[in-house]
Amino acid sequence: MNWRIPLADIDFGPEESAAVLAVLESKWLTMGGVTQQFEQEFAAFTGAKYALSVSNATAALHMACLALGLGPGDEVIVPSLTFVATANAVRYVGATPVFADVNGYTDFNISPAEIQKHITPKTRAILVVHYAGYPCDMLRIMQIAAEHGLEVIEDNAHGVGAMLAGRPLGTWGAIGCFSFFSNKNMTTGEGGMLTTNREDLYEKLRIFRSHGMTTLTWDRHKGHAFSYDVVELGYNYRIDEIRAALGREQLKKLPRNNARRAELTQLYRETMQKLTPEVTIPFASHAGQSSYHILPALLPAHIERTQVMEHLKAQGIQTSIHYPPTHRFTAYRSLVNGAALPFTEEIARREITLPLYPMMKKEDVMSVVQEIQTILSTTPMPP
Ligand SMILES: *Cc1c(COP(=O)(O)O)cnc(C)c1O
Repeated sequence: MNWRIPLADIDFGPEESAAVLAVLESKWLTMGGVTQQFEQEFAAFTGAKYALSVSNATAALHMACLALGLGPGDEVIVPSLTFVATANAVRYVGATPVFADVNGYTDFNISPAEIQKHITPKTRAILVVHYAGYPCDMLRIMQIAAEHGLEVIEDNAHGVGAMLAGRPLGTWGAIGCFSFFSNKNMTTGEGGMLTTNREDLYEKLRIFRSHGMTTLTWDRHKGHAFSYDVVELGYNYRIDEIRAALGREQLKKLPRNNARRAELTQLYRETMQKLTPEVTIPFASHAGQSSYHILPALLPAHIERTQVMEHLKAQGIQTSIHYPPTHRFTAYRSLVNGAALPFTEEIARREITLPLYPMMKKEDVMSVVQEIQTILSTTPMPP
């Protein structure tokens, strides 16, 4: 499809090309100096003591569960209204994801009251997702975790650059997991980052990332080591210098691009309010600073979502759904015994994700909302 207005678009310029070329010319491709610089810059950007880059956020989530020692018999409370990787990571280590509902139609984040409801003697951790980069209620969630002796992991795939109470998302819990997948706010094609303030966790994560080995090829190249021991059953979850070079350039552009996303989101809110107030955008009032990763909208209950998506597609406008709920997937059905997630299910039925990317023009936003108005006006109200 040649979309007139795509769902997302990447801001790449000559800076990214030059950075990648420099790596190619250096002939050092596996993790080395560029990766170390990327990690230092990311740690500085988030204020986290440690940042560790990895091949993708799914690997980051898996390693977070490993480093916290989660395993069979442990329960981890997660939202269902998220990408499947969130709950998959819990299952990789043999632990059980327990799904909690979201706050409601104006706030798609996991509900602290719902978290509390699902705590059992087996609960070991809470894995939160900052939906679209809007902060979860971390003050309450950290308090609940402290009261029950639970660890907190943040799936911050959406929230790079987002803040709550002056503190970057991804640095509230024990470990933060970031994604640099192609459609995220900053991208390396595939890639991810872990952040933590705890040295013990950082050491474990570092070992898990590269086969459980005590030294890297880079250390040996540098003459720092000749051999290594293997101290854990580790993985190959490394990033490489090409991606790290992309990440460094993308990180520089992130504040400006997140600010542009904020402007466009505000324009969506105002235009929607004027032209189609029956379609609502969640998080109208939220604490902290979002990263505005995506633009979710909630269609009226009687509207056939596919019809709206088809109409927009015919106009060259790409849309998506965030998310088909995890607990409804075939691979999850046997796991969830009648989980009641009424908000999650209704939001998953009515949500439509509209185009949002830094280079999007104001006219594009107007055009998207006008087309939604057009299709809704042809759909009769229910009797
Ligand atoms: C994109 C995404 C992931 C997975 O990220 P990858 O880097 O593609 O592995 C996990 N959780 C959420 C909420 C995401 O949006």
